Order: sequence, then structure tokens, then C-alpha cells
Amino acid sequence: MDDMSQAKLLEVSHLRIAFRRDGRQVVPVRDVSFSVPEHGRVALVGESGCGKSLTALSLAGLPPIDRAEVGGSISFTPIEGRSPRLAYVFQNPTESLNPVMRVRDQIREALPDGLSRRAGDDRIVELLARTGLPDPVRAASSFPCELSGGQQQRAMIAMALAAQPDLLVADEPTTALDVTTQREVLDLMDSLAAETGMAVLLITHNLGLVAGRMDTVNVMYAGTVVESGPVVEVLADPRHPYTQGLLAAVPALDAPRDAPLADIPGTVPPPDAWPPGCAFAPRCSLATDRCRSEIPAETRCGARSLACLLRQV
Ligand code: SF4
Repeated sequence: MDDMSQAKLLEVSHLRIAFRRDGRQVVPVRDVSFSVPEHGRVALVGESGCGKSLTALSLAGLPPIDRAEVGGSISFTPIEGRSPRLAYVFQNPTESLNPVMRVRDQIREALPDGLSRRAGDDRIVELLARTGLPDPVRAASSFPCELSGGQQQRAMIAMALAAQPDLLVADEPTTALDVTTQREVLDLMDSLAAETGMAVLLITHNLGLVAGRMDTVNVMYAGTVVESGPVVEVLADPRHPYTQGLLAAVPALDAPRDAPLADIPGTVPPPDAWPPGCAFAPRCSLATDRCRSEIPAETRCGARSLACLLRQV
């Protein structure tokens, strides 16, 4: 549900991230605005290289790139007089977990201060059990290499939950997993969000993953949001040619197994080679000379927004 009356937990306004390389300014995030309501479920969707992960990292105040200049604003609404807590789940649990520490000790580092060792151990097993791991006691005493990829991602989610987050940022959390485990991990995040009330910001290249899970989707291309709105509306009636291409690339469940998948021609250019005008123009079948010289401004109508010179929101 995209409820404009819901209190905003996070508001990102005209975020811009720039850095210098070989004497030139590179701007991988050009102008990104979106919000996450309390208890909301919001997705950032786009191919690799569109600036989604840099945007997500900047939320924690982490300098996403050495000596980056960050402009615009990122603001959190305090909860009960304190700053909201953030937790991250990243794409590859094998790289995110410390290979030489037992899972128990890694989760312990995320627990609130003041718990006795015994209470901490009990809490760790409880958190692992909540993620559906069949033997949480064994998982707690395991090293990451003793767990499967799906089990490692569940351990990462347990670690994120240990911080009692108000906002869980899940950056391509299932990309490294097989299809069945992907669904299980996403279902787990859904049920934990419903249970704990935490908001979720899901970052994914797969527009198909947001259906039925997220309330609002922001489609990013070349460092900016090109379309946004309630998931049900955007999926039923995508307006931006890039959103339409992403949606066409999602395999239909009832499609024949040998049916070819639609594809968006070309690839996302690197940020130091983004073309003038609409950055999507080289890949867009509708592009005109105007598209190649004029940057589309965002237009809004109700809860939807669009940045395209030829389409109306
Ligand atoms: S502005 Fe032009 S090139 Fe860009 S998406 Fe719209 S129609 Fe395509």
C-alpha cells in the first residue's frame, strides 16, 4: 500500500554522488529522490550500474566512494526521540560474513549492549530460529563455510535483525541463490517485516521480484529515478520505455520453456560515458533528436512520477 498519509521514516531528496577520476568529474548518482514510510516496503529497481547500491550505501553515511562529494539530502525521522536503526543484507553472504569467526560471534557484535553472555547466546539462537534454520544451535556454532548459501543468507538476516532495525536495506539479497532459495529468503524477509514492523528497502535488478511484496517501486536508470509509483499501478501500466523493457524481460510463469526472453538492447553505459539528453536514448526504440539533446524532467501525477519526454504520467 502506498499511503501518502503514512509518516515518512526516510526521505532522500535530490541525492547526487560525484567523484573525480583522471581529472574528470564522474557522477554515478545524478538526482535521486524517494521516501520510505514507517513500516513501508519500497523497491529500487534497475540494471547493474544504475546507481542503486551507491544510493543505498549513502543512507548509512558510508562514503560509497573514496573522496566522493555527496549532495542533496538524506533525512530520517526520529523514532521515540532516537535515530532510526538501519541494517543491511548484501548480495553475497560468503563475502559479507567473516570466514574465520563462528556465526554466533558475528551476530553477537550486532546485539544491543548490556546483554549477559548467556542472554546473548539465547538471543542468537532465537534469531537464527526465526530465520527458519532447521538447527539454530548448530548454525550458531558453525563457521560460514559449514553452511549452504541459503543458510548463510539466513544467518546474515539474523545478524541484521539482531540490531532491531527500523529499516532493513536488502541489496540484491537473493542474487547469489538458486531460484527456490531466493523465494524462501524473500518470503522470510516479508514475514519478519510483518512481524517486527521494520520497513524494507529492497534493491534488485529483477522487477518481477517486487510484485506482491513491495508497496512502491522506484525504477532507476543511469543514476536517476525514471519512473516511480505504487507497484500495482506501475506493473499494470508501465509508462517509461525502460520500465517496459525490464518488465518484458521478466519470464512469465506460463510461458513455454523454450520461449525467448525479451531483452533491452545494449547495456548501461558507465557513468563517465552517459550520453547527453536522455541517458536511455541509445537503447530506446522511441528516441528522437529531442531525446538525444534534452534531459527529461520529472513529471508527477498523484503517487506516480515519470521522466520521459514523449510519455505522460
Ligand atoms: S525521453 Fe525519449 S529516449 Fe528517453 S525514454 Fe523517453 S522516449 Fe525514450
